[in-house]
Amino acid sequence: MHRSKLPDEGITIFAQMSALARKLNAINLGQGFPDFTPDKTIIEHIRQAFLNSTHQYAPMKGNEKLRHVLAEKINYFQKTNLTENNITITAGATQAIFCAITAFVHPGDEVIILDPGYDSYRPSVLFNSGVPAPVLSTPPLFKPDFNKIKDAITDKTRIIIVNTPNNPGTHIWTKQDWETLAEILSDREDIIVLSDEVYEHIVFDGRKHVSVLSIDGLKQRAIAVYSFGKTFHATGWKIGYAVALEPVIIEFDKIHQYVVYAVNNVMQEGLASYLEWVKQTKGFDSLDQSHFFEKKRDFLYNALTNTRLKPIKPEGTYFMLADYSALSQKSDMEFVIDLAHQIGVVTIPLSPLFINPPENLRMIRFCFAKREETLQQAVEKLSLL
Ligand code: PMP
Ligand code: GLN
Repeated sequence: MHRSKLPDEGITIFAQMSALARKLNAINLGQGFPDFTPDKTIIEHIRQAFLNSTHQYAPMKGNEKLRHVLAEKINYFQKTNLTENNITITAGATQAIFCAITAFVHPGDEVIILDPGYDSYRPSVLFNSGVPAPVLSTPPLFKPDFNKIKDAITDKTRIIIVNTPNNPGTHIWTKQDWETLAEILSDREDIIVLSDEVYEHIVFDGRKHVSVLSIDGLKQRAIAVYSFGKTFHATGWKIGYAVALEPVIIEFDKIHQYVVYAVNNVMQEGLASYLEWVKQTKGFDSLDQSHFFEKKRDFLYNALTNTRLKPIKPEGTYFMLADYSALSQKSDMEFVIDLAHQIGVVTIPLSPLFINPPENLRMIRFCFAKREETLQQAVEKLSLL
C-alpha cells in the first residue's frame, strides 16, 4: 500500500459541511463564502481583459501593473514603502501560505500555530516534515496569549503564524499586540512571522487593520498574505498575493515558481485594470468592506441574542462564534449535524479548527457574508431554538 503523508487528515470540515448543506438543501452559514456576486464594474474589467489581453503566461511573480498598484494600496493603508518587487501574485492565500512555510521550514523545525486557526496551516507544516507547535488562544474571541507564545518558543522555532482579522476567533491584532510580539522576538531575528491578513478590509466599530508589514522589528522577517476572493466577494477566483521585503520574498519566489510558476494571467490583467480604476475614481478607501458587513454582523448578532445561543460579537471578519451550552451538551460535531437536520441551517463546529481542541468546547461558527434574505430566513429558523 502507499504510505499516506497525512494519515490523520480527512476531508476538510468546510467541504464536509458544504456537502451536507447541498444534500439537505439547507441554508449554508458554514463555509466562508458570500452568496452574492461581485461588483459589476470589476466583472466588466475582467471581461475586457478576457477579450483584449494575452492568454499566455504571466511573468513568474505576476503582472507588473497589478503588483505596482497593490504596492501603492498597501503603502496607502499601512504607511509602508513597498514596491512591486515585494509582491508575488499567488493562486489564493492558501498557496501563499503553503509556499511561505515550504520556503523556510526544514525537517524538525517548529511552527507556532495559534489554536484555533485556519485549517491549512498544520498540514502545510507536516508536508515539510516540520513540527506544528499549537498555542491555545484565550476564549471567547480567542485572542493571543503572549505568555503562552513566549513559552512555546524554542531553538527550533522557525515560523509563527498570525491571522488578523482572525478566523475563526474574529478578533483583530492591535498595534500593541504586534509590538508585544516584536518585543518577544527581539533576540530571534531568525523567526519568520507569517501573517494571514485575508480579511484586512473587514474590521468593525471603527477599528483599523494593522499589518505586520508596518511593524518595526517584525517587517524585515514578515510575509503577509492576502486574497482577492475576500476583498471582492469572489472566493472562487482563487487568486491572492504574498508580500515580503528582500531577501524573504526571494526565498518565497523560489518555491512559488515550482508550485504554479505563475497565476492566471487574464484575471491578473483584469484586476490590475480595476484597481487602477478604483485608485483614480473612488480611491483605495472604497475597498473597505467594514460598513457593508457590520450591518450583517449586527443583524445576526441581535437575532442570536434572542435565542438560547450566546453569540460573541466579532471585531472583524465575516464570521461569528456562538456558545450553545444552554441548548445542548452534545459535541459540537453532533450539534451542527442535529441543527442541520432539525432546522435546515448549516454551521461549522469549532473543534476541527483546533490542533488540540479543549474538552467540552460548545461553540459553533456562523458565516454572515450572505444576502439579507438568506440571513432573514436563517434567523427565522434559528429563532425556533
Ligand atoms: N486564510 C484564512 C484565515 C481564510 O479564512 C481563508 C479562506 N477562507 C484563506 C486563508 C484562504 O484564502 P484563499 O481562498 O484565497 O486561498
Ligand atoms: N476559509 C473558509 C472558511 O473559513 C473556507 C475555505 C476553504 O473551504 N478552504 O470557511
